[in-house]
Amino acid sequence: MFDTILIANRGEIACRVARTAKAMGLTTVAVYSDADAGAAHVAACDRAVHIGGAAPSESYLKGDRIIEAALETGAQAIHPGYGFLSENPGFVDAVEAAGLTFIGPSAKAIRAMGLKDAAKALMHDAGVPVVPGYHGANQDPEHLSGAADTIGYPVLIKAVAGGGGKGMRLVERPEEFADALESAQSEARTAFGNPDVLIEKYITSPRHIEVQVFGDGTHAVHLFERDCSLQRRHQKVIEEAPAPGMTAEMRAAMGQAAVRAAEAIGYKGAGTVEFIVDGSDGLRPDGFWFMEMNTRLQVEHPVTELITGVDLVEWQLRVAAGEGLPLQQEELTINGHAFEARLYAEDVPKGFLPATGTLSHLAFGEGARADSGVRAGDTISPHYDPMIAKLVTHGPTRAIALKRLDRALRETQVAGTVTNLGFLGALCRHEGFARGEVDTGLIGRDLDALVAEAGPTPAVVAQAALAALGLMCAPVPGLGFRLWGADARRIMLESGEEEIALKVRLTGANHALIETESGPVQAERREGTWWIAGARAMDWVRNGDVVTVFAGAGQRFRVIDPLERAASAGAGADVIEAPMPGLVKALYAEAGQTVAAGDRLAVLEAMKMEHALLAPRDGVVAEVLSQAGDQVEAGAPLIRLEDAEEEAA
Ligand code: ADP
Ligand code: ADP
Ligand code: MG
Repeated sequence: MFDTILIANRGEIACRVARTAKAMGLTTVAVYSDADAGAAHVAACDRAVHIGGAAPSESYLKGDRIIEAALETGAQAIHPGYGFLSENPGFVDAVEAAGLTFIGPSAKAIRAMGLKDAAKALMHDAGVPVVPGYHGANQDPEHLSGAADTIGYPVLIKAVAGGGGKGMRLVERPEEFADALESAQSEARTAFGNPDVLIEKYITSPRHIEVQVFGDGTHAVHLFERDCSLQRRHQKVIEEAPAPGMTAEMRAAMGQAAVRAAEAIGYKGAGTVEFIVDGSDGLRPDGFWFMEMNTRLQVEHPVTELITGVDLVEWQLRVAAGEGLPLQQEELTINGHAFEARLYAEDVPKGFLPATGTLSHLAFGEGARADSGVRAGDTISPHYDPMIAKLVTHGPTRAIALKRLDRALRETQVAGTVTNLGFLGALCRHEGFARGEVDTGLIGRDLDALVAEAGPTPAVVAQAALAALGLMCAPVPGLGFRLWGADARRIMLESGEEEIALKVRLTGANHALIETESGPVQAERREGTWWIAGARAMDWVRNGDVVTVFAGAGQRFRVIDPLERAASAGAGADVIEAPMPGLVKALYAEAGQTVAAGDRLAVLEAMKMEHALLAPRDGVVAEVLSQAGDQVEAGAPLIRLEDAEEEAA
């Protein structure tokens, strides 16, 4: 076994590999870019080497620099994770040339599966069923459209060098073929530097079922299947194992085909053989076809780990170090059911736009395995994949594992960015999905219902208002209470596109009445906890002007600074007043001073934040009516302005 390994990756997968390597007693070396000096994967490893700039091309894709780092630190082997250099045969050659071990398959095996057309030809020869289609070299548009006619519509155009769903187009009718071909080719040229495509029969009611394989270079075993049919734009969203509705006969047929595929290329290490399955009439042993082989550890490997009890990273390390396969086929069994949901920083209502942000708060519930590469305080930067975590649950049955996933999602708390938590939760509660009726079109068909985000309830809005006013934490501060008297405090919150006006009235030291747009909400504090509309207050956090209440998938509210309004409403006003009770932190005005609209004249500390008070108009300071350190009430006059002419007169 190795003493030291270098992990040539970042984020979730680097942390995942480090966890097993450490448990096996190995020393781990991280590599990191400028953007990742303080990243979780650096903290997860024993040593770390800086390898370059934030852009992947300047760091995580710099094979030479990574090999140098391995040599410098005495690592004997390199684990590539997934993405980046994991399926780059040139890198494997270079690693071996440097006298190091690549934890993965040979360069030759990666090359054999690297292009979809060549891989299909190879698999066809090995007796693995392949989707009917044209995989030839002739890229003439006339020829390709003729091939599509022969195959019969609908057809799928795929980039031979494709990955991640790029360069793929579904074509329903012959008249749409030419345009689809052009756009697939141009996308493929940009993404992969190779415009070549193949044409495939489009399988209707398609299900994506893949088989985890593991080889020692000669023999291979399979660790059963994963169903990854819940996809959006050909990208996996929720995966599970085993596949719903799988029969023993079909599993044996798919497992054998996958093992044949792996052995045909002398596969060593963990790999995945992806099949497309015709789900229109149940699962049948003659209804699955080879799509591609991913020659690496897959993102969704944890569901296989949970049903088999195998640590796939441990197997990778042992086999790379020269051991035989840890278990034989007949020793592998399935225990229960597992799900994985991919949690991303993304703006679902805006078309699943990748989002960024600093995670001011991040917490996971106890009932799930959370594989994550970020911690509270870390930043989701625009340089890399915006994945926050993979939430993985297990149960004795599919129904229980799914309930546990739903609960794990509800217990996940993320503040500082938008996420797809609500969307994932809606999927968990989708009736067809719960019945196991999955196909790759499910998300697309029900997209509107799945992305419709429930707005906050009045109780959640009321809690956000209390939090915004600083009333959620400590006992109601006597000072605030006195200052408010029986008066109500007004507050504006922004939720999505909506502005919500609220009035909060303290009706006792432990009681508040919050007037929301949909009626009054009572809040009461008992034994240090607020109860709002009869229910215990939710967890929440405040960061700057954003309050997040962890109800459902998390509800974000921006506290609208009354000064934003006061400034515009007060244009032309003579007296600058405190818009809320607070402490005058600083005054930047002196009598006689000429000021311009927008100049900062004072700073008021209130609601745990500092608010700048700006000059509402051009003028001259006539009088300063308070001093730094004063505690003032709402409406207290702070500065009086006069016009320049008045002064002159
Ligand atoms: P899967 O079928 O497991 O989702 P993909 O081929 O879509 O596999 O990609 C696996 C992972 O590798 C993705 O989640 C992504 O983070 C990463 N990845 C894919 N392509 C690249 C790339 N060109 N550069 C860096 N990372 C990539
Ligand atoms: P990538 O390299 O981008 O992962 P794949 O060939 O694995 O490309 O296909 C990605 C997804 O596209 C599959 O998971 C499946 O949902 C869909 N797909 C691929 N081939 C077919 C097909 N012949 N018929 C129907 N759907 C398909
Ligand atoms: Mg694929």
